Amino acid sequence: MTQPMLSIKGLKVAYGGIQAVRNVDMDVYEGELVTLIGSNGAGKTTTLKATTGMVPMKGGEISYRGKSIKGVPSWELLAQGLVMVPEGRGVFARMTITENLQMGAYLRNDKEGIEADIEKMFGIFPRLKERATQLAGTMSGGEQQMLAMARALMSKPKLLIMDEPTMGLSPAMTKTIFEVIRTVSSEGMTLLLVEQNAKLALQAADRGYVMSSGETIMNGKASDMLDDEEVQKAYLGE
Ligand code: ATP
Repeated sequence: MTQPMLSIKGLKVAYGGIQAVRNVDMDVYEGELVTLIGSNGAGKTTTLKATTGMVPMKGGEISYRGKSIKGVPSWELLAQGLVMVPEGRGVFARMTITENLQMGAYLRNDKEGIEADIEKMFGIFPRLKERATQLAGTMSGGEQQMLAMARALMSKPKLLIMDEPTMGLSPAMTKTIFEVIRTVSSEGMTLLLVEQNAKLALQAADRGYVMSSGETIMNGKASDMLDDEEVQKAYLGE
């Protein structure tokens, strides 16, 4: 088997005395869509933050494309194609939508490619096109979430990590976000998704991991997990 694009082994992260992540093991292979599910406070966001260099690891190992990410700053990981769409908004509030999209591509030099990709984003998210010159900070929460995702895609990530991309969104906007996730996945992008709506996430994913109290306690093919009675009871509200 080829080596995983992302490999997490025995990850531990603590905030002061609070052990938020105790033992996470997870692999993401090139081209896969992997979802990490689990109840509130299980340590999912913290796992993603450690993966993108936003919080230090206390123990364990994370490697991206075969190299340890220990001590590598977030901006360098971003330059290597490891990109995270954080939970919540995180757009540049005082820039327009178009400027936000251009910022997403700031490491790219292909002017024509960037222009074409902005048009592509406007095709995917017509709402952003209608509001191209509006300041991002004045958009609704859902619109900002779409912009955050579009901006991340503008950087042409190799591994896109998404933390709760549908948080607080209407059912219609949630559907749009999942359509985008499925599309970029079918185009070959590697994706790691943390999502409250475990059912939607598992329906879209190739494989899933379940986290509880700081540990990964289960993993498998997403379709098998959807059929698993324990997963259904604990995480799918069935
Ligand atoms: P949710 O689904 O509710 O977002 P989560 O699985 O993403 O939860 P985390 O946000 O990773 O969980 O939080 C894991 C634990 O770490 C929680 O107990 C949380 O209170 C704690 N925690 C998170 N961030 C910090 C912080 N900056 N300082 C102290 N404790 C934190």
